[in-house]
Amino acid sequence: MTEATGIVGEFLALKEETDADILAMQCGDFYEFFAEDAEIVADELDLKISQKSSHGSSYPMAGVPLDDLTPYLSALVERGYRVAVADQYETDDGHAREISRVVTPGTHLATTDDDAQYLAAVVRDGEGGDAKRTGTDATYGIAVADVTTGQFLVTEQSGADATAAALTELYKFDPAEVLPGPEVRSDDAFLDEVRERTDASLSLHTTEAFAPGRARHRVREQFGAETLESVGIADADAAVRAAGAVISYVDETGAGVLASMTRLQSFDESAYVDLDATTQRNLELTETMQGDREGSLFATVDHTVTSAGGRLLREWLQRPRRSRGELTRRQSAVAALAEAAMARDQLRETLGDAYDLERLASKAASGSADARDLRAVQETLALLPAVGDLIAETERLAESPLADVLDRPDREAAAELATDLDEALVEDPPGTVTQGGLIRQGFDPDLDEIIEAHESALAWIEELPEREKRKTGITHLSVDRNRTDGYYIQVGNSETDQVPDEYEQIKSLKNSERYVVPELEDREREILRLEERRHEMEREIFERLRDRVAARAEVLQETGRALAECDALASLAAHAVRNDWTRPELTDGRALAVEQGRHPVVEQTTQFVPNDLRMDDERQFLIVTGPNMSGKSTYMRQAALITLLAQVGSFVPARSARVGLVDGIYTRVGALDELAQGRSTFMVEMQELSNILHSASDDSLVILDEVGRGTATYDGISIAWAATEYLANRIQAKTLFATHYHELTALGEELPTVENVHVAADESDGDVTFLRTVRDGPTNRSYGIHVADLAGVPEPVVDRSRDVLTRLREEKAIEVQGSDRGDGGETEQVVFDLGSGELVTEGTNSTQQQVATDGSQTAAPANDSDGRSLDSETEAILDELDDIDVNETPPVELMAKVQNWQEQLEDSDADAN
Ligand code: ADP
Repeated sequence: MTEATGIVGEFLALKEETDADILAMQCGDFYEFFAEDAEIVADELDLKISQKSSHGSSYPMAGVPLDDLTPYLSALVERGYRVAVADQYETDDGHAREISRVVTPGTHLATTDDDAQYLAAVVRDGEGGDAKRTGTDATYGIAVADVTTGQFLVTEQSGADATAAALTELYKFDPAEVLPGPEVRSDDAFLDEVRERTDASLSLHTTEAFAPGRARHRVREQFGAETLESVGIADADAAVRAAGAVISYVDETGAGVLASMTRLQSFDESAYVDLDATTQRNLELTETMQGDREGSLFATVDHTVTSAGGRLLREWLQRPRRSRGELTRRQSAVAALAEAAMARDQLRETLGDAYDLERLASKAASGSADARDLRAVQETLALLPAVGDLIAETERLAESPLADVLDRPDREAAAELATDLDEALVEDPPGTVTQGGLIRQGFDPDLDEIIEAHESALAWIEELPEREKRKTGITHLSVDRNRTDGYYIQVGNSETDQVPDEYEQIKSLKNSERYVVPELEDREREILRLEERRHEMEREIFERLRDRVAARAEVLQETGRALAECDALASLAAHAVRNDWTRPELTDGRALAVEQGRHPVVEQTTQFVPNDLRMDDERQFLIVTGPNMSGKSTYMRQAALITLLAQVGSFVPARSARVGLVDGIYTRVGALDELAQGRSTFMVEMQELSNILHSASDDSLVILDEVGRGTATYDGISIAWAATEYLANRIQAKTLFATHYHELTALGEELPTVENVHVAADESDGDVTFLRTVRDGPTNRSYGIHVADLAGVPEPVVDRSRDVLTRLREEKAIEVQGSDRGDGGETEQVVFDLGSGELVTEGTNSTQQQVATDGSQTAAPANDSDGRSLDSETEAILDELDDIDVNETPPVELMAKVQNWQEQLEDSDADAN
């Protein structure tokens, strides 16, 4: 290909300079994309593509008008592209172009989404271990910033589970973009997990930005020299490195929002309830297991009226608190709002007029706020006194912690800024800042002079037609203006003979003629001059105003957060009242006592049957049994969600509740999605169990919805059994464990703190009716066999199942029926030995080991114990079976193997007969 010159050459040269995926280059009134970039953009955004020739070659080209770039940028960035924007500027000899910013998923300001948009950096000091679990002595530093609101958080994770904890944090923030530090960059396993758990795009930022000295300097420069000490992270090198990298990235991409990043917050993990990624998903906090927003806890309880309020409520749900102080504060505010119904409605109505101040602060800082945005700032700041009065005038609210929420922002500074903006800006300003009409008269004397002269020149023009009509007697005469002719006088054809000599004709139209007169031309020049001056001055004043707002970013953010908090609290109160929720009593003990509890989401769509739950020191582990679909999962999730809501500061769906505060909620339920991803379910199940057994403490709440189902029955029972013992005896976590292994219910009698409960079902007239009521004790029958019976399985099979079941429950060995092969040989008893979980033969053959009926003895291997010698083919199959690693083999492959074996066995049977 020939080297491109001209505009395409310039484009390609600029593209070389940036590591962005796409370049948008300003060419006059358009942003153009060339070559490959044009093709991508045309493809992604449905733009028309044309050809531009340069130096004998032809290049694809696509473009968007200057003012329309933002939505196109948003669309590209949402699809994960990083887009560089090159702007054109005037020089002495024409114009030049330069890349002014790179818009990336984590630094995009004009997001259309209400949710937080996080940019994260993650670094590691020390040796990393297995990305999935334990075994590192590394420290991870994570910094997270939301450029759209100025929020900036740092945290460190260290200890044995540092890697898992770091990944959990990333999952919680669900960042749009992640900057992996130099050590993490080469850790494929870690990066794979990030890709799998989040929708983030991974971006490379220069290694130097992560260097400790440089990063520290950056952080001090941004937040002030003392900040690291006052936030308590002066020694947190990893966190500081991550923070420095984020700042430098935001700076380098040119988002221009550094000024709105006013506050560094250290994020102390131990203040929050530990909720790992699996649990967040299992409890369907922000989306359902199927990935829908609708049907999640957040969608159910969210009645906020502002986007900032919604963001905050969501954050609360994702980060329940451990400390009673903060929770009691929120609870009291919710209680007050729940009682003061009228004031609550008024408050919510007032808040409904609020704009997103945190986002507006970032827009002001980046210079992208227009006059309407500043009006929105003014109107929202002006709500503060109204909200304050409302609270002050309502006794119930005035006495509640809600009053303190409003005392946090600097109300004086907010009022002052609101007044200034109100005095400066016209009531309803236009959406563009270059065309004037922004600033009120009386705000700036110099501008007023210009405005006056401008207005009077315009008035002269306005009166001109009347004057001319009077002077000339022409009736069809008008004055107008357009781009090509400027101002002109237009006279209808019937009267053109009456125009005075001084009229100079400039254009002939079908029914009229256009003229100018010297004075009109003078006035026109004056108007143009004044107009330009006026626009320029208004723009200057506006920009000064915008800078003032940017300098006050902190006031905006504080006010925004206070209003958001009122909104979130009022939303919780509104939900509590509508759904008859109750204020839970929070205790430091380990009790969880719920009277008439409901599931917060299920109760919305179902005639819900409330249930009690009682857990305390003597009753800390509940084995939940009951038929399929009876409501076991719902009951357990309800316990978890009531605990979680209590630790958000919310009321809970129950008649009464006493909740011992927990340090973590851990869950394990059927792993549908992992199965879909082709990972072995059993492996995942065991990983989740392992994680729980490592992380939970005696202050935790553990929910296990079936453990051990992914493997052979006796394997499964054994694991479930041992896990129960470990949780109940060693960890002593509050645990609810639903199992279909009836055998486990024996533990309820054996272990002092383990109790059985069951979800009752009523069986009459051959139908099972689910009662949805939870009662003490284990289920007393097997509904599986009952269902088999209902389904018409032959009677002997059903009867025999009952018999086998009884024996299994009594832990008796079962003789295998029909083992008399009738071949004239000795009659043998094959027995399934419950001790070993294997088939053994109880024959008269003295070489065979006798098995006691209590199953206490180890049995001999069963493979050829009936004396049959196996053919070589069968042996080969058994060897293969022995070798195969079930956990590592994809299910599909396993099925194929089994099918293959069956075919081989059939063949060999056929051969034998
Ligand atoms: P299991 O875990 O025992 O298989 P689930 O908890 O999944 O059963 O519940 C089965 C169905 O019963 C769900 O559709 C659920 O909405 C409904 N359900 C569960 N508990 C209740 C209840 N207390 N009141 C009304 N419906 C319930």
